[in-house]
Amino acid sequence: MPSDTAGTQPALAVLPLPELGSLTQDQARGATCVWDGTRLTGETAVDLGPRRDDDGVWFPRACRPCAQGQAMDALIQHSGACEQCVDDHNRCPEGSTLVRAVREARR
Ligand SMILES: [Zn+2]
Ligand SMILES: [Zn+2]
Repeated sequence: MPSDTAGTQPALAVLPLPELGSLTQDQARGATCVWDGTRLTGETAVDLGPRRDDDGVWFPRACRPCAQGQAMDALIQHSGACEQCVDDHNRCPEGSTLVRAVREARR
């Protein structure tokens, strides 16, 4: 169990990302969006949470339109396949995390 990031993990950290190996150096260090390579500033960037891979931890970031789109897609895909979310997404930990992710991307 990783405890070092508990509590500070953004909901966006649950979103699937492109393979680290397929990204540019700028994308891997958070200077540009992991999805479309848009150059990011402190104001436009959305943190996607620390990600672990074989070489250690990296901190991907995205532009707001990509983060919103990806969070929405993940939510739609999940809720289409999850009976609990059809009733009430608040009862589904994954569903409510994705709803939070969409909100985080909108901020
Ligand atoms: Zn982007
Ligand atoms: Zn669900």
